[in-house]
Amino acid sequence: MRYTPFSYKERYGLRLQRLALDGGFTCPNRDGTVGTGGCTFCDNRAFHPSYTEGKNITEQIEAGIAFHAGRGRQADGYLAYFQAFSNTYAPLEVLRARYEEALSHPAVKGIVIGTRPDCIDDGKLDYLAELKMQGNIVEVEYGIESVYDATLERVNRGHAFACTMDAVTETHRRGVPVGGHIIIGLPGETREMILEEASILSDLPISSLKIHQLQILKGTAIGTEFREHPADFLRLGPEEYIDLLADFLERLRPDIAIGRIVSSVPPSFTDAPWGLLKQEELWKMLEKRLEERNSYQGRLTGMKAFSK
Ligand code: SF4
Repeated sequence: MRYTPFSYKERYGLRLQRLALDGGFTCPNRDGTVGTGGCTFCDNRAFHPSYTEGKNITEQIEAGIAFHAGRGRQADGYLAYFQAFSNTYAPLEVLRARYEEALSHPAVKGIVIGTRPDCIDDGKLDYLAELKMQGNIVEVEYGIESVYDATLERVNRGHAFACTMDAVTETHRRGVPVGGHIIIGLPGETREMILEEASILSDLPISSLKIHQLQILKGTAIGTEFREHPADFLRLGPEEYIDLLADFLERLRPDIAIGRIVSSVPPSFTDAPWGLLKQEELWKMLEKRLEERNSYQGRLTGMKAFSK
């Protein structure tokens, strides 16, 4: 392969299935602590699996296992993926109770925590490092979204990139693998900025990255902004997106495992048919494009290419 796909099998030697959970957390960019409107692109409801509704953590895990088993997905174990909103946004005692309820399930091998970089501190990170030392798999995924402060401000993110750099560095320093999430196509960002972003991200100690195209969801503030200022948005069709992604990956550190390259929410949340493209189709297009160029992830970083 010409890029580094994210694989739990490779990382831990096990086929692990993530179970997306709703830990009942909220978001400081919605409850007034940082802001009230949330990030302009956000409609977090689009990312809640239906099996989480009205259930405690253990019930969600049971329902998640049944959901995946019903689709014929085999696994050696499961990871409790705290995905909804900001999953370190609570006092440490609350985090302990939620995470440890998940870890006490016999089929759960570890936790993956999605959060904002401004919702972490030394005490929480020390606790996560402790859970890892006890033999649990522990990973943190930060919503980076953009490395540019002007963009973060424009999308009402409520923190600067320096905050991300600190959170990522401190998490990595404690031996907890760090993943990041970015969005390609945020307003005001040019092609050149996006390519430069790959180099900036390569300097962070992240071990994985999820990349999403900007999806303009119905009813979001970014939808209004797009209607008013369409020229500020780099709107790409799938072919152009794959081209840009190939350019991006050529500038990205080769050991950063790529977990996702497209976001797709249920059709009722978006007007764009783009969102219905399947992840697998895009992966194939990307591999083909890199092959046509005889290129690979990290080619322009001057770092050694991985061999596969
Ligand atoms: S994207 Fe995340 S941080 Fe932003 S408003 Fe939504 S839940 Fe909060």
